Amino acid sequence: MKGYYKADPWSIIEEGFDPGMQEASESIFSLGNGRMGQRANFEEHYSGPTLQGTYLAGIYYPDKTRVGWWKNGYPEYFAKVLNAPNWIGIDVEIDGEILDLHNCELKEFRRELNMRQGYLERSFTVVDKGKILNISVRRFLSMKRDEIGAIRYGIKSLDYSGTLTFIPYIDGNVVNRDSNYDEKFWEMEKAEASEGTGYLMAKTRKSGFVSCMTMGYELQLNQVKVDVGVEVIEKSDYVANRLECRLEPGDEAKFYKYASVLSSMNHHPSGMVKQGKKLLSSAMEAGFDLLFKEHSEAWESNWAHSDIIIEGDLAAQQAIRFNIFQLNQTYTGKDDRLNIGPKGFTGEKYGGSTYWDTEAYMIPFYLSTATQDVPKNLLIYRYKHLEKAIENGEKLGFRAGAALYPMVTMNGEECHNEWEITFEEIHRNGAIAYAIYNYIRYTGDRDYLAEYGLEVLLGISRFWQQRISWSEEKGKYVMLGVTGPNEYENNVNNNWYTNKMASWTLKYTLEALQYVGESHPKSLDKIVRKTGFRSKEETEAWKKILNHLHFPYHQELDVFLQQDGFMDKEQILAADLDPKQRPINQHWSWDRILRSCFIKQADVLQGIYAFEEEYEIDTIKRNFDFYEPRTVHESSLSPCVHSILASRIGRPDKAYEMYLRTSRLDLDDYNNEVDEGLHITSMGGTWMSVVYGFGGMKIRDGELSFEPRLPEKWKGLSFKILYRGRTLKVNIEKSKVTVENLEGEDMDLLLNNDRIRLKSGDSVFADL
Ligand code: BGC
Repeated sequence: MKGYYKADPWSIIEEGFDPGMQEASESIFSLGNGRMGQRANFEEHYSGPTLQGTYLAGIYYPDKTRVGWWKNGYPEYFAKVLNAPNWIGIDVEIDGEILDLHNCELKEFRRELNMRQGYLERSFTVVDKGKILNISVRRFLSMKRDEIGAIRYGIKSLDYSGTLTFIPYIDGNVVNRDSNYDEKFWEMEKAEASEGTGYLMAKTRKSGFVSCMTMGYELQLNQVKVDVGVEVIEKSDYVANRLECRLEPGDEAKFYKYASVLSSMNHHPSGMVKQGKKLLSSAMEAGFDLLFKEHSEAWESNWAHSDIIIEGDLAAQQAIRFNIFQLNQTYTGKDDRLNIGPKGFTGEKYGGSTYWDTEAYMIPFYLSTATQDVPKNLLIYRYKHLEKAIENGEKLGFRAGAALYPMVTMNGEECHNEWEITFEEIHRNGAIAYAIYNYIRYTGDRDYLAEYGLEVLLGISRFWQQRISWSEEKGKYVMLGVTGPNEYENNVNNNWYTNKMASWTLKYTLEALQYVGESHPKSLDKIVRKTGFRSKEETEAWKKILNHLHFPYHQELDVFLQQDGFMDKEQILAADLDPKQRPINQHWSWDRILRSCFIKQADVLQGIYAFEEEYEIDTIKRNFDFYEPRTVHESSLSPCVHSILASRIGRPDKAYEMYLRTSRLDLDDYNNEVDEGLHITSMGGTWMSVVYGFGGMKIRDGELSFEPRLPEKWKGLSFKILYRGRTLKVNIEKSKVTVENLEGEDMDLLLNNDRIRLKSGDSVFADL
C-alpha cells in the first residue's frame, strides 16, 4: 500500500474511497487527546467492514484467560482495551433514505488528518438519484478540554431539494472484536434522551469502571441557527434525537455535535451525569469555533517544542510528524496512573497498556520533548506497581521482595499468558531499571533514587539474584530458560542481552545504594527497614554474580552470541529468504521459526545500543554485520534500534532504509497489519532514530553530546529538545551543525567531541 496516502508535510491525505482500505484508514486517521481516543470511524451509518473503536484511557476489561493448557502461574485474566460506547454517531437520511458510504454513489472522497491543528476532515460528494450533495465533516477531540469532543457535519445541496434528517446518538451496543468469549463488556447503568440532549452511563463488567457520555447539538441552515421539531428516541442501550430540515439547491445545513466523555478514572459515578452536563454546556456555550481555536492552539504549542523539520525528503518529513503527532495524542503525561499501550487509542490488539516498550522506547521521547514531570510520571507508574511486581514474583516462586514486573499490565498485575513470554521474557525488568538510570542521566535528578528509584532497583536486583544460578560445569553463573527480546527464540540459556541487563542492574543498584547512603542516609534507613534489606549479605551475593556471570561469545567471529548454542543453527541470511515467505510469522509454522536463526527484533544489538559507550566502534560494527542480516524486523520495535546503530557505525544508507521502515511502518503498512491499529510504541523509536541516530545525540559522561550524520538525501534536519530547564534548537546542515540555547542557563556541551560553552541566548556551531 506504499503511496496510498498522499505525501504532504503536515497532513495525511486519502483521495478516493476504497472500502478495502477502510479499516486501515480508520487506524491511520485516529484521533486522541491523552484522555480518550477514537478510530476514524464514520459518524454516519456504514455497512462495510469497519473496526469500531472508542477508547477511554485507563479503562479495561479483565477478560478471562483462554489457553489450551493451563500452566501454574498463569494470570487469571488478560486486560482488554475496551471499545467504549459510541458518542460520535450521527445517522443521516436523505429523503428518508439512510446515507451509507458503502452503498451509494460517491465522488471526490477526500480524508485528511491535519496534524498541525489536530483534526480529521472528510469531504465527499454524494449523488443521490441524480441529485448532488456536498458533504464535509470535521472532528476533533479537544486537547484543551480533554473530556470534550466536537463534530461539524456540513451538507450542501447543489441541486437537491428535499428533506434532510440528522439522528445524533450515543450507542452502548458495542463489542470488542478481540474478546475471548464473545461477551459484552459493558452493562448499561442509566440512559436518558430528551429534546436536544441525551446521556448514556455504562459500567464495565467485573472491573466496574463507569463511563458517562452526554451529547448536545445545534443545527444551522445557511449559517443561522434553526429550531426544528425533535423526536426523542430511547432504545435499549441507545439514546438519540431525530430532527429534520428542508434543503433546497444552494442551501447548506451544518450540524454541530458536542459530547462530554467522562470516566470513573476521574469522577465519582454519583456525580457524573451532572458533571457531564455541566462540561457539555460550557463547551456548547464556547461553540465549535472557539473550542477548535483552543484546541489548535494547544497543538501549536505542542509542535513548538516537539516538531522535527527534515529538508529535502517529503516522505520522511510527513512520517516523522505522523509519529510525533500520534505520540502526543496518546500520552500527555498528566496522570501517573496512565501509560502507553502498543496500539494507543487506535486498536484493541495487545490488550493492556504497559509493556517494556514504554521504558525502552517511549521515555527517551518524553525526556526531550516534555517537562520533567512527564517521564517521571511514567517511572512513578512502575514505582506504584512495585508491590504487585513482588506479588507477581511470589506467584512464580520467588521470595524476599524479588520483583518481577509483568510483561503487560494495566494495574500492575500480569495479564500475559504465554509461558515463554510471561515466565521467560524477563528482560523487561532490566528495561525498568535502565529507565531510572536513563531518566537520571538526562535530567540530573539523582534525588529520584532516594524518593522512588532505589526501592524498585532493590526489588529487581533481588529477582536477578534468585533467577540466576551457579553452573558447576561452566564454573560461572548462568541464566537458564529465558526469552530475549527476539521472540523467535524461546527457552534459551544465557541470552546475552538478558544477562547484560541483569548484571548491569546489579551494578547500578550497588551504585545507587552508595549514593543514597551518602547523600540521603535517612531515606536509606527507611528503605532498608521497609524492604528488610540485608545489606551485607545481599550486596555480596550481587558482587559475586557480577564478577562471574557467563556471557556467550564466539571466538572466531569475535561477536557476542545471542544465546548458548546459537551457532548450532543453520546460518542463513534474511536476504536469502523468498520474499513471498515474508513476513515469516505469517507464512511459517512456529516450529520452523523457532528452529531457524532468524531474529525478530534487535536482541544483542538492543544491548549494544543501550550500553554503546562500553564498546569500541569495531565491536559494534562486527556485531551489527553479523546480526542485522539475520534479522527480519518483524517487530515494529526493531528497525529504529538498527537505524541508530547504523548511523553510529557510518552506514547512512542502512540507517536511512531502517528509518523509513520505522517511520513509515504504518503509513506504508510494512507489516501488513495496520487495520488492527497503529504501532504507537515504536513511534518513540522513530523519534530516537532521528534525534539519537541522525542527530547523534547522547549523554556522554554526564554531558550532552551531538555527532550528527545526515542521510545523503536530506538537505537539513532541525529539532528542539528540552534539557535540564533549557530549550535547545539543533540545526544540522550538510556541512555544519548549530546548537542554539533558546532559553535557559549557560551550559557546556560536546559537539563532534569538542567541548564548547553555550551561553544562554547564544548559539555554537561545528563543521561536519
Ligand atoms: C514485541 C515485544 C513488544 C510487544 C508489544 C511484540 O511483538 O516482540 O518486544 O513488547 O510486541 O509492542
